[in-house]
Amino acid sequence: MTLRILGSTKLLGVFGYPIEHSLSPLMHNAALEELKLNYCYIPFKVEPKKLGGAVGAIRALNIRGVNVTIPHKVAVMEYLDEISLEAEIIGAVNTICNDEGILKGYNTDGKGFVRSLKEDACEDPSGKKMLLIGAGGAAKGVAVQLGLEGVGQLTIANRTPEKAENLARLVNKAVDENVAVPSSLGSKDFIRAMNEADIIINATPIGMYPYIDDSPLQDENLINSETLVCDLIYNPLETVLLRTAKTRGARTLNGIGMLAYQGAIAFNIWTGALPPVHVMKKTLVNALTPIKY
Ligand code: NAP
Repeated sequence: MTLRILGSTKLLGVFGYPIEHSLSPLMHNAALEELKLNYCYIPFKVEPKKLGGAVGAIRALNIRGVNVTIPHKVAVMEYLDEISLEAEIIGAVNTICNDEGILKGYNTDGKGFVRSLKEDACEDPSGKKMLLIGAGGAAKGVAVQLGLEGVGQLTIANRTPEKAENLARLVNKAVDENVAVPSSLGSKDFIRAMNEADIIINATPIGMYPYIDDSPLQDENLINSETLVCDLIYNPLETVLLRTAKTRGARTLNGIGMLAYQGAIAFNIWTGALPPVHVMKKTLVNALTPIKY
């Protein structure tokens, strides 16, 4: 890749703290290069106490847009002019677009997961029975988007039950219907939901590097061969959960698609171009593959 910065080059970037581990610069610059777009995507290490100043710099430096990652996704909202519907419901922003000084916040995480579900696994969440394990930041984005996409029934199970209850309440309020039900990990309701689910999603870090031998399920033998099992984890590409699901005859989906599509949706918001998702995915997989365990 040859980096060519001109006087007319437009700026994109990502705000996080820390930021060194982020794969977004690699993924977005590969996509910009593929389409020969005159943009450059830069990592910005933004200390929490300097977040307001950093958002001001988006306007001052005429940066077209940024992604926002941990720990800024919630705190950044107070500095923005407009918030999209899904970001407002989720209460977190991962993408900002600068339209002539007006900063609008979006949340593309849940949308990214649903796009991956549709494009990579050929599954539409509409009317489906789903089991979501976890109720943290990623689970929130996914649950809200599944609600907005017309999920049939969503059981949310979490180690801390109150968080599952709060998330189920949030989804039901957003869609004005009782589609989400909280559950406790390992309970009878949980096992029934697991048996009946069309789609199971792990939205916890259990199984993520370096704890690659761990699984969020105590008994994977309960996985049906008709179920699609999804893991939001992308490092490793195949978690123990996905490996076991495969041996049970189930289809599987890892977190690479969600990561690529959340970026692709942001890319489209900033540039208006159709993102080269295959290039974004390949760049991510190549960046992760050299990791040896
Ligand atoms: P988070 O906000 O910290 O939430 C973590 C969730 O996992 C919480 O519900 C937590 O339960 C649960 N959990 C953590 N450790 C647990 C354990 N030992 N046993 C049972 N439950 C446990 O994290 P997050 O940002 O949502 O991220 C969750 C996962 O999604 C991570 O693996 C991350 O890499 C992945 N992710 C992927 C993408 C993608 O694009 N593919 C995007 C975002 C995140 P409590 O509420 O009880 O603490």
